[in-house]
Amino acid sequence: MYRNNFAKRFLKIWRTLFAMVAGFLSGQTKREKFCNTCRNVELLDEFYQHKGHKNRIGECKKCRIKKNKKYTQLFLEKNPEYNKKMNKKHRKRKTELQRIYAKEAREENMS
Ligand SMILES: [Zn+2]
Repeated sequence: MYRNNFAKRFLKIWRTLFAMVAGFLSGQTKREKFCNTCRNVELLDEFYQHKGHKNRIGECKKCRIKKNKKYTQLFLEKNPEYNKKMNKKHRKRKTELQRIYAKEAREENMS
């Protein structure tokens, strides 16, 4: 247990160090960041913010979305009823929202 934890921590430190060095070598500025996954230097806006944290996540949005897609697919394979259940649960709210949006769009068209 302890050893596993230690390895994880070491890996994390190593990754941040690597990202710093790689970012420095590829000439990143203050408004850019090195992505740990695709190893490109991208603008800071391409990274999500940690919740309640000063720093940004070490992965760019594209990599993050790709990864999340894989996980959602796995999750849906395990829980095939989930979408149906959620649709049923939120149907009322959805139709209400749709009505509001349609009304707003109509009013925009009128004026
Ligand atoms: Zn990336």
